[in-house]
Amino acid sequence: MIAAELIVKKRDGGRHTDQELAFLVDGFVAGDIPDYQMAAWCMAVFFRGLTDHETRTLTDRMMVSGQRLKRLSADAPRVDKHSTGGLGDKTSLILAPLLACCDLHVPMLSGRGLGITGGTLDKLESIPGLRTDLNLSQIDRQLERIGVVITGTTPELVPADASLYQLRDVTGTVASLPLITASIMSKKLVESLDALVLDVKFGCGAFMPDIPAARKLAQALVQAGQAFGLATTALITDMNQPLGAMVGNALEVNEVLELLDGGGPPAVRHLTLELAARPLVATGRCSSLEQARNYASQVIDSGRARQRFEHMVAEQGGRLGGPLPVAPRYSLTASQAGWLSGWDCQRLGQAVIELGGGRRLAGDSIDHGVGLEVLVQPDSHVEVGQPLLNVYARQAPERHWLQSLRDAAQIGHQPPDGVRPLIAEEIL
Ligand code: URA
Repeated sequence: MIAAELIVKKRDGGRHTDQELAFLVDGFVAGDIPDYQMAAWCMAVFFRGLTDHETRTLTDRMMVSGQRLKRLSADAPRVDKHSTGGLGDKTSLILAPLLACCDLHVPMLSGRGLGITGGTLDKLESIPGLRTDLNLSQIDRQLERIGVVITGTTPELVPADASLYQLRDVTGTVASLPLITASIMSKKLVESLDALVLDVKFGCGAFMPDIPAARKLAQALVQAGQAFGLATTALITDMNQPLGAMVGNALEVNEVLELLDGGGPPAVRHLTLELAARPLVATGRCSSLEQARNYASQVIDSGRARQRFEHMVAEQGGRLGGPLPVAPRYSLTASQAGWLSGWDCQRLGQAVIELGGGRRLAGDSIDHGVGLEVLVQPDSHVEVGQPLLNVYARQAPERHWLQSLRDAAQIGHQPPDGVRPLIAEEIL
């Protein structure tokens, strides 16, 4: 087979055979198909899509590009959560240790920042010394000891996603339903789980623009999980504003510490509890969502989730004395009065990348200490001179840059017409 011919086939709307998809995935992992051809194929998929069968085959091929985590009969039930990506989305860092405190095992394979969205691994790596490239035996040992691990794909574990993820990030090919499905599900399926909950985000800070698009993605993900025998559910959640106040790696870890201490923004706690409740019920740990939410809430308030988080950090080599150091802070104030109807999340996410908190090129190193703090929530009234955002930057930001960031605040004269729920739907 010839890679260039397969690119042309997909570009022209053709359907790949199983063998062709295997050739592309295996060839890319082996280094026989170069980045530029794989990027062109991803772009063809972005425009032409994949059929359900092609998506399943791609997922399967990516999954078997490496090894699978083993199960022992004495293991606790294994569960996980994954998000399709959003701004300020830090729930995984709270939810994983929380579920481990409920006698579940959480072998979480996560990703780095994609597009304007942050990545769990980048956030964790703000903690000095913390490793996210664990091998299979290290993952097994850590699960055995403390029931939770958050680590990344490696040449041993889903290498196909490790390489494709980096490539898609910098080639405008992230927001493709079949590519997101194969990327997420290949990682989750190698974990040998009993239950999975997905957070499928829509809005200006997500890859899916609206609820119908997010619903299609959620259905594809849930069906892919179920096709492989994995109990999978999805919540469709609003990402038209950052989740919580902090956007940026170390800033988000600090917000997570506040949440693990029982404080922090209510929206983040609410979503974390809703997501945690699904695997608690799916594995029979709790008999209803109501009971599961209360149980998860107590685990946070008792301080046990915080302790487990600290164990996990220490097991992975991290040194966490307290809140992480961040860059100097600059305040951005409103230049007009009115009602804040929303935030332009694309602009906010782009600003974090411009500050050095995200990648422009695959393999770029990032500055974990920079980012933004959102001080005003949508549907609030704003006065002239009121602080809107804190910018955490290494150098004082230039005036024109601050002005363009100020434009991210959508301020008008109309009062809000009702608060939108954070969780729009559930797909079972
Ligand atoms: N998360 C992933 O793991 N992959 C994607 O493609 C998007 C979000």
